[in-house]
Amino acid sequence: MKLSDRAAGLTPSEPRRIYDAAQKYSGVIDLTLGDPDLPPPPNVREAACRAIEAGKTRYSANAGLLELRKAIAEDARKEYNMTFDPASEIIVTVGAMESAYLCLWSLLEPGDEAIIPAPFWINYREVVKSLGAKPVFVETRPEDAFVVRPEEIEKRITPKTRLLVLNSPANPTGAVIPGEVLDRIAELAKKYDLSVVSDEIYGHLVFDGKHAESILTRPGMRERTAVVNGFSKRYAMTGWRVGWTLAPAQLVRVMIQMTENIVACAPLPSQYAAIEALSDRTDESYIRWEFEKRRNCLLEELRSIPEIVSTGTPATFYAFLDVSRTGMSGEEFAMSLLKSKQVAVIHGSAYGGPAYRNFIRIAFTMDCAELRKAFTRIREFLAERKGAAK
Ligand code: PMP
Repeated sequence: MKLSDRAAGLTPSEPRRIYDAAQKYSGVIDLTLGDPDLPPPPNVREAACRAIEAGKTRYSANAGLLELRKAIAEDARKEYNMTFDPASEIIVTVGAMESAYLCLWSLLEPGDEAIIPAPFWINYREVVKSLGAKPVFVETRPEDAFVVRPEEIEKRITPKTRLLVLNSPANPTGAVIPGEVLDRIAELAKKYDLSVVSDEIYGHLVFDGKHAESILTRPGMRERTAVVNGFSKRYAMTGWRVGWTLAPAQLVRVMIQMTENIVACAPLPSQYAAIEALSDRTDESYIRWEFEKRRNCLLEELRSIPEIVSTGTPATFYAFLDVSRTGMSGEEFAMSLLKSKQVAVIHGSAYGGPAYRNFIRIAFTMDCAELRKAFTRIREFLAERKGAAK
């Protein structure tokens, strides 16, 4: 069978390679998965069961249940102090992944350029490439806490630049773009007539009592911004596959049309659960608290490992760590650690190429006890290497 050039051009997944390698060992502590281990709130689980028992298991409208879109509009009103029309400016999708895909599919022509700050969530690079468009990366630096510099975005803009992807808080760095930086990026988007895909899926996993701002609320940005969001991280509902996009009606219209051709709709029991999740009966704060507690455990453990340097992780459940002081690249570190201590982490270059060769990404989607166990093994790993080098 002859595959299309598009299909053949997909980059083999680096995280998948590590994951597959980890399967060969027993007793692995897996720090690779961006998948919360916590259960969704109990009332949300009950709502899904009730929907199934009541036979609410068929297709919904392609745009998702209107009741859910109304709940999302209400959530957006609280979040951004802006009103969205549930009938024309909101689509419910199969996770934020479908949202991101459909936004890019709807906005990019082959040959167009899309600017993506690096390191990035790998899907953005792959989807842009699969559409025959070109991902153009803007590298962020640890000394800036991985916050993108607007002047570096501007340097990458060409007549072919069509859109900019923002992901704040970010996977894999946990970086949160401050309001004043968003102001400057918004000015660039307007000056060069760019669309912005703003992936805010980690927006509720911000620690230390802080809050992530959105480019959407900057003057003149509403008509050029598509917000990608979902239930996976905020409510620990990854496998339920519900996300959404807030965008101008003209974009939402084509996304709805295309969704009919690929998935029909998000799973219906999950949509009912999502309505419940957004209701005032839900208290999901335990999820943020738990990840904040784990982030604190992680930083505490790192204090006794001077060879591994962190920029702090103010949000998400990822830490992007510099391991250059160990004398290993991120990839060497990941592979040898797995082999000798059965702890799986992903090398940073998987998320943005050679500039991040000295980094690893750790997902703290396990409890503090397990996390501390992983760090004990990491300490042993480094001590044994030092011993062997003597
Ligand atoms: N955006 C980012 C930045 C992510 O990290 C992820 C999941 N890893 C998604 C979107 C997709 O989430 P969902 O489960 O809602 O499809």
